[in-house]
This record gives sequence, structure tokens and C-alpha cells, in this order.
Amino acid sequence: MAGCAALVLAGGSGSRFGSEIPKQYFALGGRTVLRRAAEAFAGHPAVDHVRVVIRAEDRARYDAAFAGLDVLPPTVGGATRQDSARLGLESLGSLAPDRVLIHDGARPFVDAALIDRTLAALDDAPAALPALPVSDTLKRARADRATVAETVDRSLLWRAQTPQAFRYGDILAAHRAAAGASLTDDAMVAEHAGLSVALVMGNEDNVKITTQSDLGRAERTLADALAITRVGTGYDVHRFCPGDHVMLCGVRVPHDRGLEGHSDADAGLHALTDAILGAIGEGDIGAHFPPSDPQWRGAPSDIFLRHAAGLVAAKGGEIANVDVTLVCERPKIGPHRDAMRAAIARIAGIDVSRVAVKATTSEKLGFTGRGEGIVAYATATVRLPWS
Ligand code: MG
Repeated sequence: MAGCAALVLAGGSGSRFGSEIPKQYFALGGRTVLRRAAEAFAGHPAVDHVRVVIRAEDRARYDAAFAGLDVLPPTVGGATRQDSARLGLESLGSLAPDRVLIHDGARPFVDAALIDRTLAALDDAPAALPALPVSDTLKRARADRATVAETVDRSLLWRAQTPQAFRYGDILAAHRAAAGASLTDDAMVAEHAGLSVALVMGNEDNVKITTQSDLGRAERTLADALAITRVGTGYDVHRFCPGDHVMLCGVRVPHDRGLEGHSDADAGLHALTDAILGAIGEGDIGAHFPPSDPQWRGAPSDIFLRHAAGLVAAKGGEIANVDVTLVCERPKIGPHRDAMRAAIARIAGIDVSRVAVKATTSEKLGFTGRGEGIVAYATATVRLPWS
């Protein structure tokens, strides 16, 4: 047995959320709550596999939300959270990981440091959970639920969070033994089996989205975190040459000419890459991919845009929107516009609603008007954290 797997639970319908669509599939800053929760594990160096446990009826929502993310295929959960966790654990049987993290899909703000702390605690204990000490004074109500019976000593009370970490074999056996009991989290299943559960300091930001107002608060948390707005522009020209197609914004457009250039000459993606690099003050495309370097000869320009988007992500930022304008008399861009938007969205890892592609002619004036080449302009807006 080796490695570490993360199970992300999204089997609930979220009846408290008051919507047909489960809360995990609501968008939070352009990505679903569930995808954000899973991305933290998919991008963590200590986590080898990520699997999401879903409801069968959410499969289409899941597929749409997880496009392009490198995780195991989802598995279907059961009627209760406990059933879903057990079925998720059973589904990892062939991988037989050494350690497993079980996380609530409605907690999108889990971060790498919390995952590190929780896993580290497994070195000295068979189970570990992040939790926060209770700071509010606690009251126990009388049976009428209207008056106070007593004040509760809070000094030993903690609020449990996820991810909770276990030895895979231990927690699988504990879940099998507890099937049918009504236990509210996996640490409780471990306690039920007599395992000692270590407490690890949680994170106040690692909230669970249960109600619509939680989602609104999460949107504000995200907006506060990405408080710096930066704009960049890009411009590129490529000359027509003999050929039978042009690459524009990641789409192969049949044409009676080609475009001349060191890479695939995709002026749209080049201008856009420069716009993103400009927004984050990271030079230009030539600085990252020197035309003198033979490895970029004929290269698909996807790699330039993906690199720029990766630099934004590495700074903890997000691409808020991109806007590309192509200037040429021919080929006609309109029939390819939606495919271009989709290609840019896929390569940059953003929602297509954040991508615009426009086209114009130059009324037969100048070099674009004479059909000698294509011009692309681009603008990108990037949001970055304060730090
Ligand atoms: Mg270029």
C-alpha cells in the first residue's frame, strides 16, 4: 500500500440550501464550489488521487464542472453522508492507498497548509481532524427551546472541520462496522471504532456552504481576497503566406492562405498571451518563448496561453475576462467565433462567459485591407490577492 487519496463528498441534495441544484454545483467566482474543493487536493503534492462522490442524477453537472481537471472518475454515493463516505472508501479498494483524506464538497476554501497539518498529524495518531476552539459562550436550552437552562463550559469544545485524515485500512474497517449507525462525520466513525483522533488547528476561512447567505459571504470572501484588479493589452501581426488554413484563437480555419510565423502563427492567442503577461507584469511572449529557440518552431500556441494562465494561478489570481479583436478582410471570423471562445476558455481554464472574440475589417485600408496579414488586439483583466 502506498500513497494518499482524497475523497470529496458531494452526495447530498442540500435541502437547507433551498434550490433544485445542490449547493456544491453553484458557481463561486466562476468555478463551482465543488470544483474549488477538489482542486485544492488535485494540486497538492502529497495527494496522489482525488475522487468525488456524487449523486447519480448529478453526473451531467459534475462532468460540466470538472472538465479538464485531472481526477479519478466520480463514484456514486448513498442515502446518507455516512453511506457516501463508505461507498467512496470501497471504491478506492483497487488503489489501496496508505492514507485517505475525506473532505466535504461544500468547503471550497480548504488550503494546502491545512491539508499539510492534517496529514502530518497522522504520523502520530491513527486519525486526525482540523477543528477550531469554540469562542462564543455556549448556552444549553430547556426543553421548550425558548429559555436558558445553563451555560456550558466551552473550554474543551471544538468545532469539527474537514478534511479528516485516516489510515485507509482503519477507516474502511470502521465504516464497515458502523454501517447502519447514524454518525455525522468520519472522525465520529473512527471514535466509534475506538481509534484515537488527533485535533489539528483548523482554519476560520474553511467554511461550509450550507445556505444561500453562506454563498453570498463566500463570494465576498473571494472578492476581498482578490482585491487587486490589473489590466493588460496585447497586439500581434502575422503575414499571410501560401497555405490552406490559418490558426486563430486556437481554431483551425480553412482559408486559401496560411499565416507565416515561427510557431503556428496564431495571432489571436499571441496577443492574448501578451495581454495576460502584461496584466501581471511578466514581460512578453518573446521573453518566455524566445523565437530563437528551435523547440517553439511550429508549436501550437495553446502552450503560450496555458503558460500565462498558469502564472496567474501561481500568484493566487484569477483571469476575470479576456477580449480579443481580430482585424482582417478574410477569412470570415463570425462562423468560428463560438469555437474560438470555447477554445480560449478551455486553454485558459476559465468559463466561456469570461471570453469575448470580436472581428472587424479595416475597410480595405492599410495592410490588413490589402489582405497582406492579420492583426489581433487583446485585453485581459486579472484579479490578484493583496499579498
Ligand atoms: Mg505572433
